[in-house]
Amino acid sequence: MNHAIGSGITYLTGTGWVDRPADVQPKVSGVVNCDVAVIGGGLGGMSAALRLAQLGCDVALIESDICGWGASSRNAGYLSNSIGSDARILNLFYSDRVRDLARFANTSVTFTEDLIDRYGIDCHYERTGMLVTATTQRQLRAIRKLVKVGGRSQVLSSTEAGVPAAFLGGLRMPLGGILNPGELSLGMRTTALRAGVRIYEQSPVRRIKESGSTVEILLDQGIVRANQVLLTTNAFMNDLDITPRWLSTPVRVTAVETEPVDGARLDEAGWTSRVPIVTTHLVMESYRITQRGSILCTVRQMQMPRGPIGDRPPDQGVVAEIMRGFRMRFPTLVDVVPARTWGGWVGMTSSTLPMAGHLSPRVSYSIACNGHGLPQAPYLGYLFAEHLSGGEMHQDLKVLWRSTPKFAPGIVNPVTLKLAWLADRLTDRLDRVLP
Ligand SMILES: Cc1cc2nc3c(=O)[nH]c(=O)nc-3n(C[C@H](O)[C@H](O)[C@H](O)COP(=O)(O)OP(=O)(O)OC[C@H]3O[C@@H](n4cnc5c(N)ncnc54)[C@H](O)[C@@H]3O)c2cc1C
Repeated sequence: MNHAIGSGITYLTGTGWVDRPADVQPKVSGVVNCDVAVIGGGLGGMSAALRLAQLGCDVALIESDICGWGASSRNAGYLSNSIGSDARILNLFYSDRVRDLARFANTSVTFTEDLIDRYGIDCHYERTGMLVTATTQRQLRAIRKLVKVGGRSQVLSSTEAGVPAAFLGGLRMPLGGILNPGELSLGMRTTALRAGVRIYEQSPVRRIKESGSTVEILLDQGIVRANQVLLTTNAFMNDLDITPRWLSTPVRVTAVETEPVDGARLDEAGWTSRVPIVTTHLVMESYRITQRGSILCTVRQMQMPRGPIGDRPPDQGVVAEIMRGFRMRFPTLVDVVPARTWGGWVGMTSSTLPMAGHLSPRVSYSIACNGHGLPQAPYLGYLFAEHLSGGEMHQDLKVLWRSTPKFAPGIVNPVTLKLAWLADRLTDRLDRVLP
């Protein structure tokens, strides 16, 4: 259901990228038997199920709504090699793994690019790379320091980077680009169906029960019996009793899309390169142009759920906050109005890194969200499928592997999210250098 509130902006409960497909797959009804059941039909689950089917495994993919209808079709469409955590935190806490994690993140991008090419998925992918920018002198100093440490390329000024002057400069990341994630999700769904994956939709799993040599998956109108189960339910992991505490904390992320903006006005704003822009705030801001010629603005403020998570329209206060950020960064576009907005749930792990492992001998999980899962979830799903079908564990899976299903509470909670937002706004105010 969609709502138009106030100035004509449409508040969507689902994604703004694509319409729902008409060919909804059957629900689980009665008894279904399979070798492997993948629960959760996001890009992670679809990629795992696809690979399992290709390896000759009898696989069933069970999705509570429509495959792709979670974060996978709602995200901002940045295919980037960001690892999942702030680079400073990574170097501080995971210095022994940074190199391996970077390899995983880089390969995730090339893997997903290859997936798009191999299956001919038309998702308006553009190999633009992106610009990691600073909006304050403090952020600029931090970027310069990182460049020094990493021995990477030069920090560009806003003019050199072809971005508005409110972005003081930044680092051009050449890998990856932007795409329409709704089209990618629907393309993966079609590819999985063509490969013979049995997909069950509108089938929320209620309970997972281990029973001797099989696992029973209980649903409203049926039961699935499987030898192995892979959970890829991302932010919804906690809905099932089998999930240990702290595996995934759901966080709400909102996207706002403006009306289309004329090319001449983008030039006038200083966005001559049209490169996608992400800031280095604690909670980043990001701006990219869509295939519709509109600007998609994301994040700036994240929320924790009150009550159960599910489809809901975005919060008006968060939408106003995102637009405040947009108008600050693009002062010549203050008259550009938001056309629509939607939100989705990301699952934050306690380490803010992707993770995989077993919950029991027959039930496993993989989670690659933390706001960077667009390339990582499909790659991790693929690696897990290879592992489940008996292959040796790939080095990129090893680096994410947790040998015991015990997790510490993460740093993400309502208080830290509020503090991060406050710190970002304070830095904006105190340390801002605007044209
Ligand atoms: C607004 C927004 C912007 C983002 N921007 C980016 C970006 O630009 N780049 C990037 O890399 N990442 C981004 N992300 C994160 C990215 O979308 C996710 O990391 C990625 O899609 C995760 O894929 P997934 O398959 O793990 O999870 P999901 O796509 O969330 O899939 C999980 C699926 O499990 C299903 N499910 C849940 N519970 C059950 C159950 N009990 N039974 C059956 N099925 C169930 C859900 O319906 C859902 O379809 C963004 C996310 C959001 C919300």
